[in-house]
Amino acid sequence: MDYFNYKDNELYAEDLKVSALAQKFGTPLYIYSKATLVRHMQAFEQALAGKKHLICYAVKANSNLALLSLMRSLGAGFDVVSEGELRRVLKIGADPKKVIFSGVGKTRAELSLALQSGIGCINVESSAELETLSQLCAELKLPARVALRVNPDVDAKTHPSISTGLKSNKFGIAAEDAFALYQRIAADPYLKVSGIDCHIGSQMTSNGPIAEATEKLLTLYGKLEEAGILVDHIDIGGGLGVTYGDETPPSPYEYMAAVLKRVGKRDVSIYVEPGRAMVANAGILVSQVQYLKPTSSKNFCIVDAGMSDLIRPALYNSWMNIIECTRHDEPKVLYDVVGPICESDDFLGKERKLAVQPGDFIAVRGAGAYGMAMASNYNARRLPCEILVDGSTVHVIRKRQSFEDLWQHEDALQF
Ligand SMILES: *Cc1c(COP(=O)(O)O)cnc(C)c1O
Repeated sequence: MDYFNYKDNELYAEDLKVSALAQKFGTPLYIYSKATLVRHMQAFEQALAGKKHLICYAVKANSNLALLSLMRSLGAGFDVVSEGELRRVLKIGADPKKVIFSGVGKTRAELSLALQSGIGCINVESSAELETLSQLCAELKLPARVALRVNPDVDAKTHPSISTGLKSNKFGIAAEDAFALYQRIAADPYLKVSGIDCHIGSQMTSNGPIAEATEKLLTLYGKLEEAGILVDHIDIGGGLGVTYGDETPPSPYEYMAAVLKRVGKRDVSIYVEPGRAMVANAGILVSQVQYLKPTSSKNFCIVDAGMSDLIRPALYNSWMNIIECTRHDEPKVLYDVVGPICESDDFLGKERKLAVQPGDFIAVRGAGAYGMAMASNYNARRLPCEILVDGSTVHVIRKRQSFEDLWQHEDALQF
């Protein structure tokens, strides 16, 4: 559920008319709804009430400082995958103990910063990374709480590009190798066993895969317990799907219930790392129709947002809902909605029925996650403006880039 709804044929973001916001702030424009974000965070909190837990928002889905600050105020911790993301959450005053660090390629510099800031847990993804971490801790004389990201070899039943828990993926450590590495951690003077982690994929629309992964983690948990190695948390990663079109993913409550049922009375904290489920439906991308271009094979609706602003359709062939910001009574026409970028893959949606004219605004729903976070300057386009709506109040949380911003780090050499 979100707070982007029609009233009298006008799309609203909470209490504000989207077309008026588009006029005021220009397009392409990302609009986020604070009430939706709060609601999603509360849904995860309620799903985990009664069990020790930590909700670590996956920063990579959308790393705008205002959204991070809002999540922090609601009690969230953070899952980061780079030094930049770590610096972002430190910048907004996140408690480092509530931050965890994931990713297969953490550099020594990144690990050092994490250790020096007193990070809550490092999710280690290979034995080589574990050795590097152990050396660094000894050099810096700093302890590290560690979880191993286990690759449970479970099919997340999602798009291959966002499936991460299969043996053939680069992520995590095979379950059969993890036990020996936990013994290695337990014997290290600086490393401390903290958790067992996994993250098997994204946009999962059923409970089966996460239930199966949880069982595999619990088998390992049991073996470690027998060996006297105590784990304080089980981290099931992110991955809960959202409704872009006709998907019917479980609610956070149902999803977490599948995990909690299996964990039972074991004395562990549950960590979860939602990204998409937290922010996707809390954001829309608004764009203005520039031209309608009928051709002998199809009709194109050319808008002022493209793959540089929102790459998911071009990158994963993702279906995202495109709606009119002002509904007209005219008959709908079938369009491929495309951007201005010089690539044939530059589209937002294919075969969409819309009643639009040049100058009208359209909105892509579900654009809050992996939208702005993946935006680029391709074709020397400026990164879009982002605003946060809170009831009838609006905050600019990122100004549109200026043209000077585009070349500020370059040197023309003036030949
Ligand atoms: C991307 C990622 C997430 C978030 O995934 P969503 O599908 O957006 O919930 C969580 N944890 C890790 C390690 C990730 O790489």
